[in-house]
Amino acid sequence: MERIKRIALVAHDSRKKDLIEWVDFNWGTLSDCEFVCTGTTGRLVEEALKKKGITAKIVKLKSGPLGGDVELSALIAEGKIDYLIFFWDPMEPQPHDVDVKALLRIATLYNVPTATNRSTADFIISSPLFKSEYKPTVKDYLEYINRKLEQEK
Ligand code: PGA
Repeated sequence: MERIKRIALVAHDSRKKDLIEWVDFNWGTLSDCEFVCTGTTGRLVEEALKKKGITAKIVKLKSGPLGGDVELSALIAEGKIDYLIFFWDPMEPQPHDVDVKALLRIATLYNVPTATNRSTADFIISSPLFKSEYKPTVKDYLEYINRKLEQEK
């Protein structure tokens, strides 16, 4: 049996409406997935779905600026996220800019399919790989982990 896909949903305030619309439009495909969201995004997605009579399985982390992006980065590093849909705002500086950068860096490091805009999210969800057993390859960092530092030599 195929494993249930875990999708992380994050949107900055000006992009939340867009993300909610995307979830709503694609609910037919997303309905059997699990969701992990930063706090406010999760609450709004949950409320939007509830209005349609849908109860979704949504894990809500802390709000992004209060540590949610960092919590999500940790889940990615632990291999617990299959897709990251992160609609960030390219027009507004964020108080937690370093956390945003860390989240995008970690998603890239662990080769997690990541959409930062709606068209990429559409390409991910319509890919034949979306529900498959696809396992992203991660570069082998053993040499880096086992490197000898000057003081160990
Ligand atoms: P929020 O966080 O969903 O709690 O608003 C989003 C973010 O800025 O990372």
